[in-house]
Amino acid sequence: MYDVIVAGAGPAGASAAYELAGRGARVALIEKEALPRYKACGGGLVYRARKLIPFPIDGVVERECHKAEMHLWDAGLHFQVARDEPIVSMTMRAKLDHALTMAAQSAGVEVMTGWPVRDVAAHQDRIEVMGEKGRLSARFLVGADGVMSTVARKAGFHRDRPTAPALEWEIRVGDELLERFSHSARFDFGLIPNGYGWVFPKSDHLSVGIGSGKRAHVNLSRLLKEYLLLCGLSRTELIEAHGSLLPVRPMAAPFVRGRVILAGDAAGFVDPLSGEGLTFSILSGKGAARAVLDNGFDPASVSAAYAARIEEEIITEMKWARFLGRFLYGGPKLRRFLFQHYGQSFCEIVADVLIGGRSYRQMLTHVPNYLELLRFWKYGGMQSE
Ligand SMILES: Cc1cc2nc3c(=O)[nH]c(=O)nc-3n(C[C@H](O)[C@H](O)[C@H](O)COP(=O)(O)OP(=O)(O)OC[C@H]3O[C@@H](n4cnc5c(N)ncnc54)[C@H](O)[C@@H]3O)c2cc1C
Repeated sequence: MYDVIVAGAGPAGASAAYELAGRGARVALIEKEALPRYKACGGGLVYRARKLIPFPIDGVVERECHKAEMHLWDAGLHFQVARDEPIVSMTMRAKLDHALTMAAQSAGVEVMTGWPVRDVAAHQDRIEVMGEKGRLSARFLVGADGVMSTVARKAGFHRDRPTAPALEWEIRVGDELLERFSHSARFDFGLIPNGYGWVFPKSDHLSVGIGSGKRAHVNLSRLLKEYLLLCGLSRTELIEAHGSLLPVRPMAAPFVRGRVILAGDAAGFVDPLSGEGLTFSILSGKGAARAVLDNGFDPASVSAAYAARIEEEIITEMKWARFLGRFLYGGPKLRRFLFQHYGQSFCEIVADVLIGGRSYRQMLTHVPNYLELLRFWKYGGMQSE
């Protein structure tokens, strides 16, 4: 009998397990794959997420990008931002997640790999987790098993969470091309319906991907090939190609049912403007751990405390980000007009959010920001071709 079982050794699960063990709980972290395992992800760790990790992870950072660039192809507009902090630390998720899990193990967590959860059974005073390798019991279960969460399904949570398809390719390029893409996190809009493409430089290759909120009539493979051509990446060697889903809205609350609490993609916590999921995964993993321990494993109190924390730290941010997303992913005419006048200002503000300098809420409810926007409108600030 454990105090807590955490299902899924991604950033949400590993963060929850680390926090729980650090506070003396007896924890099992169960993961279906052998570790390290590939995860379809750009591996872009924005600075606001990196600051949440309570130990150094320099060993798994392949490149530090202090610059980010945004290209709006259907308007011929191009913007660049730079910060003293790395806006995006480039990682391979296999290594990042392994490092987070090993830190949890060092903190006292029992890590079990090759252990897929198949079912859960609720009892008055405990929760039981079933898999091919047997049964485990605990006072609480954290479901951090990703976008297709078995825990959420088996524990009876709402399943009304929309997702967007995304493709991730790892490609090898020549030294000259690698060098050309190595200093900046690159985002391209105006090519992919309701979505964008990215090029993230790693130590010896590029991670390239696209995601689209429009599911019907979109051939993502064809779009990704066209995107590579547009970026001048036609002569490349494909190392790996993966497809996956990205949650675009949180599932309907509550995020706790009985003795089961959801974190990360399992609950749909991804920034809807940027598609960035690492910040909210780590935040919700830690939040789940604290809600369980601070409330003495009492389901009703845990649920109330977690709901309040998630509303404050994540849901509110997701609402403001979605509001901003209407301008970015809405009609091309409105987007073109807005970015011609406010594009650079918009990118500066989003960069501030991604490094954790301010929140979307602070940004959109702070009157001087609108004056800043007006100043940009009057005096320019955009770069266009
Ligand atoms: C193509 C793509 C690119 C992305 N790029 C970025 C990016 O650059 N930066 C960013 O911040 N976010 C990015 N995201 C989002 C990010 O990958 C996710 O938000 C993040 O991985 C969520 O973390 P998690 O811990 O909740 O889930 P996951 O990272 O998915 O981890 C879940 C874990 O649970 C395990 N698991 C699954 N089922 C079971 C089971 N039944 N039993 C036991 N274990 C199980 C899985 O093997 C996995 O290890 C991207 C997403 C996609 C699809």
